[in-house]
Amino acid sequence: MKIRLAAELQPDSIVDGEGIRTVLWTQGCPHQCPGCHNPGTHDFQGGALIDVDEVISSLKKIKNQDGLTLSGGDPVCQADACYEISKAAHEMSLTVWCYTGFTYEQMLLQPKARRLLSEIDVLVDGKFIEEEKSYDLYFRGSRNQRIIDVAKSLAEDRVVLIEKYMKDKDYDLTYQKPNYLFV
Ligand code: SF4
Repeated sequence: MKIRLAAELQPDSIVDGEGIRTVLWTQGCPHQCPGCHNPGTHDFQGGALIDVDEVISSLKKIKNQDGLTLSGGDPVCQADACYEISKAAHEMSLTVWCYTGFTYEQMLLQPKARRLLSEIDVLVDGKFIEEEKSYDLYFRGSRNQRIIDVAKSLAEDRVVLIEKYMKDKDYDLTYQKPNYLFV
């Protein structure tokens, strides 16, 4: 199985989730968020096709990391390959964070995306909305995005947010409205 990547694995990130993390920059994103910081990752024919086994073997060689972060691009567009890499990351005792422009609810409706959720610890979901952009947020670009504890959410059949990262106290009142969930 192959995966289309925008760049090589990037170790030692401290801004793409908790701890010291290796980032997998996937190539291809359908969301076209105005103000996106990574427009070069949108083209589904861009980047390079790499064997998933090769990515896993490269990941094994990177030492002293707390976790793997799936980013892009949108990792959910390559759900099967990301599932295999995330499963291998868990076998290496790494935590797995995933950034996506889709919502958790949309992922639940799509079988491959739902399977990928089973290998994700923390999901940062939703499109980047420029009007909601803030530098006063942990690990997310705009206030509409949610930082979700995936295992708890699946177990309790509801979205469980990781409160310590959701600094915007008005979040629940404003952003749980359907027009924010399905933009
Ligand atoms: S989902 Fe992320 S990569 Fe895709 S357009 Fe939006 S901000 Fe850019």
